[in-house]
Amino acid sequence: PPLDELIAGLTVDVPDHPEPGIVFRDLTPVFADGPAFRRVVDGLAAPALSDPRAAALAGAGAGDRAFDVVAGVEARGFLLAAAVALDAGVGVVPVRKAGKLPRERIAADYALEYGTATLELHTDSVRPGQRVLVVDDVLATGGTLTAAVALVEQLGGVVAAVAVVVELAALGGRQRLAPHTVHALWTT
Ligand code: 5GP
Repeated sequence: PPLDELIAGLTVDVPDHPEPGIVFRDLTPVFADGPAFRRVVDGLAAPALSDPRAAALAGAGAGDRAFDVVAGVEARGFLLAAAVALDAGVGVVPVRKAGKLPRERIAADYALEYGTATLELHTDSVRPGQRVLVVDDVLATGGTLTAAVALVEQLGGVVAAVAVVVELAALGGRQRLAPHTVHALWTT
């Protein structure tokens, strides 16, 4: 099946999680399925590689690598970012929830679909001018990825693209992340 149908078919909707009224899209069965995970990992990197903006950032003759490092957002983004990075032959850096990173770090507060939180990034995770592919599982309101992008940019990184498996379009995350390019494998 097409990748969006494959993801849709394996995703489990969980009503009233983590709060009443929220329908949580559980992607763990997508990750647990070997062929589906393979296609998701390929799919997350591919648009960044062919994205005109990412290509322009990479410059002519830079080859097919449009990003220098992959940043994954805790925790489900870690599962994806490591696989994408390994495949692309680049490194992976963690964007973590507050209080987890042991060394010098920067922080960004954000509002979630449910609650508020803080994300942190080690100051040596991104060097000025590095092109960063920012990866997470789900784009909802965009608060999380907006904070992750802000951290990357605060360190002088250039966001090559933002890539997610599922975009919940009604929540407006794509608009919030503009002008950054959002690549979603399934928009619903
Ligand atoms: P946002 O900040 O865009 O509102 O929410 C996105 C963040 O919350 C992501 O880190 C994502 O993992 C998590 N999230 C929000 N809603 C869902 C959902 O329905 N399913 C999953 N798997 N994660 C969600």
